Amino acid sequence: MNIRVGHGIDIHQLKENIPLILAGVKIESDVGIDGHSDGDIIIHAIVDALLGALNKGDIGTFFPSDNLKWKKFLSLHHI
Ligand SMILES: [Zn+2]
Repeated sequence: MNIRVGHGIDIHQLKENIPLILAGVKIESDVGIDGHSDGDIIIHAIVDALLGALNKGDIGTFFPSDNLKWKKFLSLHHI
């Protein structure tokens, strides 16, 4: 049996007057998580853990922060 395990962490700054999104859910708060894309640290950490287990790099490999395509990209939240 081949078992693979991945670990993911993500760190962003808190900033006033921006949405706080955790795991795709908007949470009422005076501060949100700033980021190039959506700043959703839970989703980012899960993606990093999955990619790590697959030995496929990290989230920056597929969604680089220097690509304007992902700037302030919002995924499932705000629905
Ligand atoms: Zn992130």
